[in-house]
Amino acid sequence: MTRVFNFSPGPATLPEPVLRQAAEEMLDWHGSGMSVMEMSHRGKEFMSIHAETEDLLKELMGIPANYKVLFMQGGAIGENAIVPMNLIGATGKADYVLTGDWSKKSYKEAKTYGQVNVAATGEASKFTALPKQQEWKLDPGAAYVHICSNETIGGVQFHWTPDTGRVPLVADMSSDILSRPIDVAKYGLIYAGAQKNIGPSGLTIVIVREDLLGHALPVTPSAFNYKVQAEADSMYNTPPTYAIYIAGLVLKHVKKLGGMKAVAQHNEEKAAILYDFLDATAFYRNPIAKEDRSRMNVPFWLKDDALNDAFLKGAQERGMIQLKGHRSVGGMRASIYNAMPIEGVKALVQYMKEFERQHG
Ligand SMILES: *Cc1c(COP(=O)(O)O)cnc(C)c1O
Repeated sequence: MTRVFNFSPGPATLPEPVLRQAAEEMLDWHGSGMSVMEMSHRGKEFMSIHAETEDLLKELMGIPANYKVLFMQGGAIGENAIVPMNLIGATGKADYVLTGDWSKKSYKEAKTYGQVNVAATGEASKFTALPKQQEWKLDPGAAYVHICSNETIGGVQFHWTPDTGRVPLVADMSSDILSRPIDVAKYGLIYAGAQKNIGPSGLTIVIVREDLLGHALPVTPSAFNYKVQAEADSMYNTPPTYAIYIAGLVLKHVKKLGGMKAVAQHNEEKAAILYDFLDATAFYRNPIAKEDRSRMNVPFWLKDDALNDAFLKGAQERGMIQLKGHRSVGGMRASIYNAMPIEGVKALVQYMKEFERQHG
């Protein structure tokens, strides 16, 4: 068996010990005589998996007692509608901060549900830098302020927590949740698709402060109503059971590694290897402002786009895949989530040097 170094932006690489354990438990989970996929979501076996996964997430992220953790479906793109449906009703207005493709998409979708304003945008820098907090024009009457903590395509990431006063901060953390410690109490709501740092696709995590529940617009489908789901312990409809199980295994693995601080340190180390190299060569280029660079997704461009195919082919031959940049921006992108080992990043830099020697 050969495992590749998979730089995919998502669904993404998972920790090998997790995959091994899932394989071992596939036919018979803990003597139950069935796989997790075959269990009733209301049976005691799955209920225990569900509870353990939720408890682990609360423990690892330090989620305060006045927050609900919801296991939903629909992905972050689904949440682009589900968030305003549930929250905007409090005042009818919301502020959005635009920092790249994903936050722009959130903003567009929200317009259907209320008065949505752009409080700040990184457009002037072509989204290579975050708009500074001083430039934000926040509306104190907004129901919430929306940000994307890590722009998966553009490669900018918040390394500070915006101050939105009494207005709840809402963050799409799809591509950097669990990558570093965060102070959950500074957010009103956090949402994330699981398929970057937590597990397989199909599971969407929502962490919401209890006092924000209860403002859903009448059009909100019950299955997407946070209050309904919170009261039903995320079992109003059948939750994505297998994805929750794998997420639980990933969380256990993360805990064993030492939790958020240890993971963050590992991620910083990996990102530094790549950025230090990019800064030391003229053959490759990363245009993002240094203080806003993502530690999860590192876009870079070769000196000459005509070399892209050769670069990707050589990478593939060396067992490094999914390095092609997003179709909207071109170039390359290395996604180096939690489960990407440091050896993968070192192998990539090694290859980039070699390619530069041949083509520079
Ligand atoms: C991947 C991603 C999404 C899209 O998630 P879906 O599961 O396809 O809905 C949204 N926002 C961010 C920041 C992402 O990285």
